[in-house]
Amino acid sequence: MAHICQRLRGEGKRIGFVPTMGFLHAGHLSLIERARKENDVVIVSIFVNPAQFGPHEDFSTYPRDIEHDRSMIRHMTDYLFCPPVDEIYFPTEHFDFYINDLADSLCGVSRPHHFAGVVLVLSKFFHIVQPHAAYFGQKDYQQYLIIKTLVQEFFLQLQVILCPTIREKDGLAMSSRNVFLNKEERHQAPFLYQSLLLAEKMLKNGEKNVATLLKNMKEFLRKCPLARLDYIDIRNAHTLQKIETIGDPVVVALAAYFGKTRLIDNILFSAPHYEIKR
Ligand code: AMP
Repeated sequence: MAHICQRLRGEGKRIGFVPTMGFLHAGHLSLIERARKENDVVIVSIFVNPAQFGPHEDFSTYPRDIEHDRSMIRHMTDYLFCPPVDEIYFPTEHFDFYINDLADSLCGVSRPHHFAGVVLVLSKFFHIVQPHAAYFGQKDYQQYLIIKTLVQEFFLQLQVILCPTIREKDGLAMSSRNVFLNKEERHQAPFLYQSLLLAEKMLKNGEKNVATLLKNMKEFLRKCPLARLDYIDIRNAHTLQKIETIGDPVVVALAAYFGKTRLIDNILFSAPHYEIKR
């Protein structure tokens, strides 16, 4: 892969990169489509990265169907990069990557090593692929901010592009993990997004008090008894710092378990563009 990418760069080709863990859905396809529009060559990786899963998380059961993925994206992808785990990680490797306080809050609380694992694998992949641009979904907004910081702090020469969250018809954010939801859980899962829409409506109506917004969202989520909230919060959209009153752009973010399945979602408010500058 590294040799191919060096050759492509030498030929003056612009490389767009879409890292994924596979079991692809329309959310992933939207990133690939965007990369297709903006680059000469599109490289998609499928790699279920062990370093970003905690010991009791779903690494071994994470859904995988590489042949189906391949057929879904064949017409829109130039290279599919699916390295075996032992080619990416050395047996003796023990990295604890430096990441800043962006990784401590929200998903970082219940998944303390998750973002270090994400940063580790993406650092490796960015060195191999040397993309001009890499594409990420807003669903994983905290991940996007952390990757953007990685790129800035290590002076990596690539653009980090944020793409909108793609949803099912009923509003549920598409996720590879949605297949794990049973019928009743699947029925209740769209309430997560509806609670975000409720916050958005209140924000548009001028509500500025974060505690009031969160209280209303939590009350709304009583409609959804199968959801066990991991967190629900409203943070500065650039720094993820806590706020009490709405001022700068904010991210309204939540994570909830349905059984063992952990779903996340968020909305941005008062951000005029998807490209949020830090
Ligand atoms: P994953 O395979 O879950 O690691 O996701 C790979 C990339 O696809 C990440 O940048 C995700 O943010 C993005 N992604 C996942 N689900 C969606 C979605 N529903 N809409 C847009 N992007 C998504």
